[in-house]
Amino acid sequence: MRILVTGGAGFIGSHLIDRLMTEGHEVICLDNFYTGRKYNLLKWLDNPYFELIRHDVTEPIRLEIDQIYHLACPASPVHYQYNPVKTIKTNVMGTLNMLGLAKRVKARFLLASTSEVYGDPEVHPQSEDYRGNVNPIGIRSCYDEGKRVAETLAFDYHRQNNVDIRVARISIPMAPVCSKTTVG
Ligand code: UDP
Repeated sequence: MRILVTGGAGFIGSHLIDRLMTEGHEVICLDNFYTGRKYNLLKWLDNPYFELIRHDVTEPIRLEIDQIYHLACPASPVHYQYNPVKTIKTNVMGTLNMLGLAKRVKARFLLASTSEVYGDPEVHPQSEDYRGNVNPIGIRSCYDEGKRVAETLAFDYHRQNNVDIRVARISIPMAPVCSKTTVG
């Protein structure tokens, strides 16, 4: 299968590419290297089944592929708050472009979303049907509202254009607090 991974030079994207390449797929990685690093993909650069394209998903692109894993977006608060307008542009225009591409080539589309779509949740842990407690005008909103719109776009392309979609709300658990006595 020919698979597009946007944001493939990042942490999760590069590990996903390792898995897809090992499974014998043909992989196209699209990244603007805003936070991702070519270094993460070094082992695949000379592989004929791998292609790396420096491209910003906010610009349209035409490719022939069977599946899209759409991961492109700065994910840590330091990075996504550095240029919040760029963050929301990536989530809205980038996701729109990738869904337009999925529609055109009939590719299955996976959106890497986030548990941050719940905002400042009032229930723990959150179930998928919890709607969240969100703030549209805070400093984190570019990311969490951006991902909420990205999810909306995915579901609307599914309902309106029959695009086969998946949405994964990735959650990074807080690091355990280690005191000196517990670590020795
Ligand atoms: N798009 C893209 N690659 C494609 C097909 C579409 O980047 O192969 C972009 C397209 O330029 C547009 C967006 O995806 O900005 C939405 O495309 P869609 O076909 O859904 O909408 P339309 O172009 O008809 O408004």
